[in-house]
Amino acid sequence: MDGHPHHSIRSAGTYNINMRLLVSLCLFSGFVLAQSGFDPTALDRSANPCVDFYQYACGAWMGSNPVPNDHSRWGRFDALQERNRTMLQNILETASAPSPARSAVDQKIGDFYAACMDEKTIDARGLAPLQADLARIRGLRDKAAVTDTVVRMYRAGFAPFFRFSSEPDAKDSTHVIAGLDQGGLGLPDRDYYFKTDEKSVKIRAQYLEHVQKMFELMGVAPASAASQAKAVIALETALAKDSLDRVSRRDPEKLYHKMTVKDLASLAPAFDWTKFFQGVGAPAIQSLNVDVPLFVKAFDAVLTATSLDDLKSYLTWNLLRDSTDVLPGKFEQESFNFYGKTLQGQKELAARWKRCVNLTDGQLPDALGCQFVEKTLGEEGMRRTHEMVNEIEKALAQDIQSIDWMTPKTKEQALVKLHAVINKIGSKEHWLDYASVKVARNDAFGNAERTSEFELQRQLAKIGKPLDKQDWEMSQPTVNAYYDPQENDINFPAGILQPPFWDNQMDDAVNYGAIGAVIGHELTHGFDDQGRQFDAQGNLRDWWTEEDAKAFDQRADCIVQQYGSFTAVDDVHLNGKLTLGENTADNGGLRLAYGALMDRLAGKEPPSRDGFTAEQRFFLGWGQIWCENRTDESARMRAQTDPHSPGKQRVDGVVSNMPEFQKAFACGAGQPMVRNPACRVW
Ligand SMILES: [Zn+2]
Repeated sequence: MDGHPHHSIRSAGTYNINMRLLVSLCLFSGFVLAQSGFDPTALDRSANPCVDFYQYACGAWMGSNPVPNDHSRWGRFDALQERNRTMLQNILETASAPSPARSAVDQKIGDFYAACMDEKTIDARGLAPLQADLARIRGLRDKAAVTDTVVRMYRAGFAPFFRFSSEPDAKDSTHVIAGLDQGGLGLPDRDYYFKTDEKSVKIRAQYLEHVQKMFELMGVAPASAASQAKAVIALETALAKDSLDRVSRRDPEKLYHKMTVKDLASLAPAFDWTKFFQGVGAPAIQSLNVDVPLFVKAFDAVLTATSLDDLKSYLTWNLLRDSTDVLPGKFEQESFNFYGKTLQGQKELAARWKRCVNLTDGQLPDALGCQFVEKTLGEEGMRRTHEMVNEIEKALAQDIQSIDWMTPKTKEQALVKLHAVINKIGSKEHWLDYASVKVARNDAFGNAERTSEFELQRQLAKIGKPLDKQDWEMSQPTVNAYYDPQENDINFPAGILQPPFWDNQMDDAVNYGAIGAVIGHELTHGFDDQGRQFDAQGNLRDWWTEEDAKAFDQRADCIVQQYGSFTAVDDVHLNGKLTLGENTADNGGLRLAYGALMDRLAGKEPPSRDGFTAEQRFFLGWGQIWCENRTDESARMRAQTDPHSPGKQRVDGVVSNMPEFQKAFACGAGQPMVRNPACRVW
């Protein structure tokens, strides 16, 4: 839902509706006993690699790694993230032990974690921490006063109705401006409010029940709770109606409407925008980007047409929904029942310590990430990754020069863009200082509010200033990576620079198929259907000739058709357009890594290992980073919301487009892993 596009290698591990966790953080890698990069015992040798390569590469792993009860998806990314989480737990347990020798940073993260772990105090306080806000909502006398309440909620980390933050100006990426985007929904996507298939209708009914139960847990009588829940969903449905769908949101031009605050006020006169901007602490602004003007109009209509009582119900619901992680257990359990169990098929709420590690990582990312990097970042991993990035950038330059569908003029521009890519690898250089944030050992709720406000003010303070490209959008212990088209940079947190993605015990072939392909994936994002619309400076500017753009679209359409034919679960297909950017990046990424590996081998065939040639091990390295299982519910939800394809399609979709794979495994025409004609963009 973020207007500022990022292209990660993978979606977040858990779906989190909590708005205050949308902004992320800091790092890592290491000496821990990690699972080796290539695992011969994961193979299903009874499968035919030319018929179902994913089954061949991952079959035994899948059989022995069912989804744990506290997850909705379990793959090798998750296993590594779980290991990182244990390291973070150790850091936090140590930091939370009271000691006069504690550093200021240890006090922040240690007491934040301890307060979160203190369920006894949280239960005893009940809804007391929310009372002032609840009373303010109850006491609203007219709609003009709604602005003040929205301001107050925003400052505490909530985001009713819409999203407001800073973002680089898409057409002048050196400057940061204010951005107003659609938001305000409690279901994972706008389509959830309108789909008429049996499952979707049922989920809406379960959502209604859930909202009602949350009101009842607050002490509202069942009849009133039921009518309030209905009002909430009616309001959200009205907001959803004019929200832009996910495929449309992939087009950056559709999200760019710079206008004056005066224009905004005439688009939505029912809300006092000037008061809101001042109230949340934004610097004085004359103009801003309104991502979806139609949505803002819809918001205005909602505000005008909805009764004050129903607006109160909606604001109360927002408060409750996004606070459950620091409210008494019954609220958290009920929230999990819907968002975890119903939507994603997760059987059990994760252990308290895991949720508190996640919350600390989300709210104080640099304080925790800094220590994680100190303890884990391996110099050799950093060095090798840097080296590989250079080699893969070289492979992309060669690829651009050699393709036959692009004219020299556009090729020249593409190379300018490639050479301007900034590589951020391993760890951030400047850590945020949380000295001004009060963290109290007995106040989990207040800690969450104060750290949210700190982050909001940090984001808003960027407005009107030059873009700071040193900042990261992911915490350093995160097992992920991303490309940012407006910064034209690739970002690899320390978290992913370890086995099975990179392993110094492994031969080059496996490492290139794993972390090499991830690097190639992020680089290719600069040249996918979305990234290609930004230039070397990160500006939304068309640098393509018309005929080259057409040639690109034709090739991209092959990928849209290919992945759109894949099934996620039951009769649910992948959305070829939603996943186009990621699939393009996977296909380009593995091919670039292959090219770089071939350059490195320079025609010398290394001895085979574990019974496989270097080429075979390269493809097995790729296949095995995607070994995973997911619940049916999670597969269904992700098919609608996740721009990344599931592991099986990521692996089989790419190798079936590569003659190099077919040669490595001696596959013949007509076999499933030999696609004819093959799709290829890069
Ligand atoms: Zn990606």
